Amino acid sequence: MSVARPQDIVCKELVELLTDFLEQHLVWCPGCSEYLRQFRATIGATRKLAEEDLPEGVKENLLDAFRHWRHGS
Ligand SMILES: [Zn+2]
Repeated sequence: MSVARPQDIVCKELVELLTDFLEQHLVWCPGCSEYLRQFRATIGATRKLAEEDLPEGVKENLLDAFRHWRHGS
């Protein structure tokens, strides 16, 4: 049995290790469970922000601002 060096672990293995570790950790850690819950809620809320939620004129103003910004004026 040998201890793996950081460079011996490929990204996929690291992700799998981290996922396993996190899942086991979340079972008993209320702090991280709550954090993850809020994090997911935030992502969900952001995804729900659709174009049509923008007030009248805001989208045009933003597009205008971006156009000017890209032209450097
Ligand atoms: Zn934790």
